[in-house]
Amino acid sequence: AAKRSGKNRTVLFEPHMHEQALARVDTERQLRVALREKQFALHYQPVMHLASGRCVGFEALLRWQHPQRGLLTPGAFLDVAERSGLIVPLGAWVLREAQRQLQEWQAAPELSGLFVSVNLSAQQLGVEAGTPGDLLTMTFPPGLHLEITEHSLADTPEALRAMRALHRRGVPLMLDDFGTGFASLSAAQRFPVGTLKIDRSFVSFLPGDARQTAIVASVVTLARHLELNVVAEGVETPEQARSAQALGCGFAQGFLFSRPVPAAAAAAFARAHPLGEDRPFGGRGT
Ligand code: C2E
Ligand code: MG
Ligand code: MG
Ligand code: MG
Repeated sequence: AAKRSGKNRTVLFEPHMHEQALARVDTERQLRVALREKQFALHYQPVMHLASGRCVGFEALLRWQHPQRGLLTPGAFLDVAERSGLIVPLGAWVLREAQRQLQEWQAAPELSGLFVSVNLSAQQLGVEAGTPGDLLTMTFPPGLHLEITEHSLADTPEALRAMRALHRRGVPLMLDDFGTGFASLSAAQRFPVGTLKIDRSFVSFLPGDARQTAIVASVVTLARHLELNVVAEGVETPEQARSAQALGCGFAQGFLFSRPVPAAAAAAFARAHPLGEDRPFGGRGT
């Protein structure tokens, strides 16, 4: 990891860079062990219908039960998993596990209407057709949704093609971290998605002045015209929830309602906020 700086093109190699490189290699080695030894788990965070307070589904979020370091969130390992390509087998495990969990919940009448969404990395959309990890060789039961960021679509030339194919197969797609890419508005229009998830960075300004709420208000207007669901991400306070709803966000997710929790706790949460016969998460989202 040598770095060129300034016009002198001085090659710098700081000791801390060496340490970082070693740490990456070590994390990669440990990730391989973790995959073999099944040290991963999914936690689930509820997505709420703001008008009714009902839980409409869950986002599955990857966790690594590290033997020494304890429970790790993706910030500690996702980058290494992506750069090493390990995200492809890891992501395939996530999809299988989310599907298994969804089917278990669908067998319980009071949980059967919930969706589970899974985050995809760009590498998973770029897997060569027919090789291991190819999404199009997998089965997607109704209720399984996929979350994709605009960034990951920009990264991989094959990504858009894969996404269109998934859409044709009827897999509901969500644009994650919406608003953080520089082409968000055109992305919403060009990509066959049913749901926009407004990034936490915009939600954190709520309730704000007109300037601070402008992005959320614009996304809601866009979503109305395109008949998309809007989820406000990272809602932490009742004021943020009220403001998001007043601005027209139908759905929200955040620590205010629940942190991501293991499956049993998620199911208990859903039972306490039952969906009943309602299916508010509609439109092109389902
Ligand atoms: P994301 O998809 O945008 O997921 C939302 C993140 O925000 C989660 O972090 C969640 O715990 C956190 N969050 C939710 N509500 C709040 C809140 O009210 N306040 C704050 N401060 N944070 C909140 P997490 O679980 O650490 O995941 C981080 C990112 O890692 C995810 O962002 C997603 O991009 C990625 N990721 C998670 N699981 C997977 C996976 O299975 N596969 C892939 N490829 N990426 C994943
Ligand atoms: Mg997500
Ligand atoms: Mg997000
Ligand atoms: Mg995010």
